[in-house]
Amino acid sequence: MYGKIKEHLQNELSNIKNAGLYKGERIIVSSQDAVIKLDSGKEVLNFCANNYLGLSNHPELIAAAKSSLDSYGYGMSSVRFICGTTDLHKVLEQKIAEFFGTEDTILYAACFDANGGVFEPLFSEEDAIISDSLNHASIIDGVRLCKAARYRYNNADMTDLEEQLKKSQGARFRIVVTDGVFSMDGNVAPLDEIVRLAKKYDALVMVDECHSAGVVGETGRGVTEKFNVRGEVDIITGTLGKAFGGAVGGFTTGKKEIIELLRQRSRPYLFSNSIPPAVVGAGIRVFEMMTESTKLQDRLHENTEYFVAKIREAGFDIKPTKSAICAVMLYDAKLSQEFATRLLDEGIYVIGFYYPVVPQGQARIRVQLSAAHRREHLDKAVTAFTKIGKELGVLK
Ligand SMILES: *Cc1c(COP(=O)(O)O)cnc(C)c1O
Repeated sequence: MYGKIKEHLQNELSNIKNAGLYKGERIIVSSQDAVIKLDSGKEVLNFCANNYLGLSNHPELIAAAKSSLDSYGYGMSSVRFICGTTDLHKVLEQKIAEFFGTEDTILYAACFDANGGVFEPLFSEEDAIISDSLNHASIIDGVRLCKAARYRYNNADMTDLEEQLKKSQGARFRIVVTDGVFSMDGNVAPLDEIVRLAKKYDALVMVDECHSAGVVGETGRGVTEKFNVRGEVDIITGTLGKAFGGAVGGFTTGKKEIIELLRQRSRPYLFSNSIPPAVVGAGIRVFEMMTESTKLQDRLHENTEYFVAKIREAGFDIKPTKSAICAVMLYDAKLSQEFATRLLDEGIYVIGFYYPVVPQGQARIRVQLSAAHRREHLDKAVTAFTKIGKELGVLK
């Protein structure tokens, strides 16, 4: 019976290819780090991982993971409420709550699940969700799974947010939802303003700190720290898959009753496996390291400032960033692909993004900085960018 759909799928695939939208995957044959080895044998500098704090291959996390693996074994073979909760899971939840200054935390297999499972248990037809237009796909999907009315405001546009808050006055409960850092530009949500408007219109606030936790704020506690609104945000979601070690796992942290109800009703939590002890053990170590010192956060901030200053000095047009994401604007889709390919030849691994991932005519190369980068890595990248920029006529 496969026959008929097979042809259809082949057509779909060639449409994707013909539109130039086919996503290839490069194969890495080393650990994830500042320097990685590709299957071609080539060693390149990695500027496209979410390895913001350089923890993906950190010896302390490897040791913590091994130790939990030895004590608690490999898998949990259960969801949390049957027999998938160890004392380690509870410790990690507590550590995350302490880190963000919240009341309680619930772990998920991924932040995609945390966002997918947060709205439906809390909101129904009488309620409204007011969401930033550039929010992550998992928030969009989570909102779709919920019966609440949907409102959308233009990215970080507070006039439009206020408009939507006025329009949704009739709702029983309302929540404003935003990413902390928007991943294509590296800009931050104006959380102080969002909190002010939410108070004025009696709405809750939710922030997805995936790209901001560990990165933004003096000590890496995210946009709630940057805008000094810790305690005024009701729900924070985040991932263990980016700054915090880069393995896998997500969480929702916030008000105690919210978390308690999610444990009762959130479907990705109830019907999906517990995260494994090795990941949980290493996760605990991450949050200990984050509170023992700000060495990694400081290095990331230094690296970002250095790179952004140098690339701007070289003459590139970059988006104003408030995170560890630096968008080097090339505007033209084909040019962004050519540029990234040429950079790889120079030993710099970056990705060119173009429509529909970013708006039409806004193609760019997104550079992601890491605490794992050393000064010479940054210099090498700037030199390569400059060389290719001249060769391709981007720089004079
Ligand atoms: C990466 C990301 C997610 C998904 O996190 P996973 O743990 O990888 O599922 C959700 N929201 C935002 C804003 C992200 O950047």
